[in-house]
Amino acid sequence: MNNEKVVIVTGGSRGIGAETAKLFAEKGYAVCINYLTNREAAESVKEVILQQGVRCITVKADVSLSKDVERLFEIVDRDLGTVSVLVNNTGILKTQACFEDISEARFSEILRINVMSCFLCSKEAVKRMSFKYGGSGGVIVNVSSRAAQTGSPNEYVDYAASKGAMDTMTKGLAMEVAAEGIRVNGVRPGLIYTEMHASGGEAMRVDRLKSKIPMQRGGEAKEIAESIVWLASDQSSFVTGSFIDAAGGL
Ligand code: NAP
Repeated sequence: MNNEKVVIVTGGSRGIGAETAKLFAEKGYAVCINYLTNREAAESVKEVILQQGVRCITVKADVSLSKDVERLFEIVDRDLGTVSVLVNNTGILKTQACFEDISEARFSEILRINVMSCFLCSKEAVKRMSFKYGGSGGVIVNVSSRAAQTGSPNEYVDYAASKGAMDTMTKGLAMEVAAEGIRVNGVRPGLIYTEMHASGGEAMRVDRLKSKIPMQRGGEAKEIAESIVWLASDQSSFVTGSFIDAAGGL
């Protein structure tokens, strides 16, 4: 148990986060599944993970709020041990809309949940991983989106802009903490089959757009999990400040 690495997956109850949590468990990590409201989904991922014979906890926390984030990391310190990998996976989008119809409140919420969550969780992770604070290093993987580069016109420019901010943070933080034993990288998924598209008002969005993808199909959450787990592994030990575009050629 002493050599067991500990991973926190924010938004680990569903979609890409759930597949990522399960894949880390297969690799022998102790796993913290963070979620916001869907306790049942989080517990069902935990059940699968426990069957791998590794430790697993679920923690309800709104990772866009500093007091929740501090509590999340304290629970992990206490119940699993010091975090070695943080996956900033939490992300939301709202109904497809023209730019001028996006309200100030909506834009603010998107930035708070998609960007502040990454900032706040990464801060707590750096305080534990960094050599200068007595840590033994670690890895942060940020789940961004191809939207950061396409801009998502006529759908959700607010969401795309939040992912652009996440990418800039990935680059800057990677360089700032590289000598402190921490690698920071990003994964930019394309169109992936998850429940997120229903939040945008179009559950079947991936199928509508898949003919525009060079590979002619949408991606599976497990395919994104593979990239995330690789970036967290020793196989990518010289990779930092980098991005994997996992988007079928988009
Ligand atoms: P999803 O299926 O909608 O799942 C979202 C997860 O985030 C859930 O576990 C949810 O918890 C959690 N969550 C939401 N707000 C939270 C908060 N404030 N605090 C803590 N947890 C919160 O999403 P997904 O499609 O797997 O997306 C995962 C990541 O990939 C996101 O960052 C998304 O932007 C990115 N991405 C997805 C796609 C795609 O096509 N699906 C493409 C590009 C990028 P509950 O279960 O409790 O609600």
